[in-house]
Amino acid sequence: MSRPISRRRILALLITSLAAAVGAVITWLTGRPNPIVVVIEPTPAPSPTPTLTIISRDQWGARPPNHEASNEFGFANTAIDKAWYVYPGDLAEAYSTVAIHHSAIPLDTNETMSSVQDLHMDTNHWADVGYHYVIDKNGIVYEGRDIHVRGASVAGYNTGTIGVCVMGNFEIDSPLAIQLTVLQQVVNWLSAAYTLTHLAAHGEFNPESLCPGKNMLPYLDTLAQVAGLQRGTGGYVKPVV
Ligand SMILES: [Zn+2]
Repeated sequence: MSRPISRRRILALLITSLAAAVGAVITWLTGRPNPIVVVIEPTPAPSPTPTLTIISRDQWGARPPNHEASNEFGFANTAIDKAWYVYPGDLAEAYSTVAIHHSAIPLDTNETMSSVQDLHMDTNHWADVGYHYVIDKNGIVYEGRDIHVRGASVAGYNTGTIGVCVMGNFEIDSPLAIQLTVLQQVVNWLSAAYTLTHLAAHGEFNPESLCPGKNMLPYLDTLAQVAGLQRGTGGYVKPVV
């Protein structure tokens, strides 16, 4: 039995059509290519558990993504791993693995979500924060890149991988107890919400990287076990091009 088209879907289609028309007029007036227009269906991500609060992009004052970023161009092109890409359909089908990172900025510095975003956008020339979620030294969880959008956190393996970063340099610092507690909550939530199968360290995907640091690595087996995940990169599925 076919389902009627929802109002939300109709609205998204209208917005897409309007954006295309505006782009065409701009091209006609200026002779320049259309600006890239992104319409993400307003489907909310699954809610975190009642014990987990996430500071939204609006709440921390995120800059909008830059869809013309020089190191992340090629919108919606699965053939280009560094491209900005909005997953179509069910995110639970898209994601298999959570990758754990550290920010590599020592805990005794005044790191903020805005400083992470500035680094990723202005220095790395990515379209947005590379990670999907970030945990600060007080155990506060922040929304990074929209969960509907492929991350930029594990070179060559971003498709199907959720990036979670804990602030600190765990080659030097030890992760704080509150950070480990909250990281477990985040991993438990993501595992259940997106039916993940694996948890991996960033450095397991990219062996040249020390991320998330030697002082974080000993905790990853337990993190995975408690969340019912296997450890390692075995859940990665190469995208079909
Ligand atoms: Zn990393």
